[in-house]
Amino acid sequence: MIIAIDGPAASGKGTIGKRLAAHYGLRHLDTGLLYRAVGKTVLDAGHKLEDRQAAIAAAQSLDLARFDEAVLKGAEAGEAASFVSAIPEVRAALVGFQRSFAASAPGAVLDGRDIGTVICPDADMKIFVTAAPEVRARRRAAEYRASGKTIDDATVLADIRKRDERDSSRSASPLRQASDAHLLDTTNLDVEAAVAAAIAIVEKR
Ligand code: C5P
Repeated sequence: MIIAIDGPAASGKGTIGKRLAAHYGLRHLDTGLLYRAVGKTVLDAGHKLEDRQAAIAAAQSLDLARFDEAVLKGAEAGEAASFVSAIPEVRAALVGFQRSFAASAPGAVLDGRDIGTVICPDADMKIFVTAAPEVRARRRAAEYRASGKTIDDATVLADIRKRDERDSSRSASPLRQASDAHLLDTTNLDVEAAVAAAIAIVEKR
């Protein structure tokens, strides 16, 4: 079984993806980490994010195991990811890894922006997770604070709006709901309710 989960930043798709994978005994891939690692590689090497060749080279030789997930989850890597992810050659370099991850037994849950539309268009189940931007910003700011960073909700909200705009308006695999994806709005749901709603969607199928 392959479950594709897409949605904007901090919609809850990562948590839902992880929990669905555990519930159904599937593997889980947070594909945002791939783009975050590409962006981080470019920055660490002292290149500008506009340096397409540096980003493409980083994507083509990416080894996710070399990165600390906590660092990749930070704001800097997230911002960098949303720049490099608009480069078609960067996306192309990461397709093979994502598809073979999805195809390996016993099946997988992948979450990202283009899983249901581009990476796994034939996924058994597609869920598009969304939530109001203000709620997503509050969640992301709380995560940052929990990891010791001081950042206010307004700054995170501005960043989220910028990222939504960039991810939705790019021409290479933009963020959008697949026509056969189930919509799950987590604006008024806590984690447990959102996970239960996602399981209910899969079970109904
Ligand atoms: O999901 P996450 O916030 O970790 O993703 C970081 C950035 O990586 C997104 O803003 C988006 O630009 C990019 N991304 C993407 N396609 C994916 C996953 C992430 O373009 N499948």
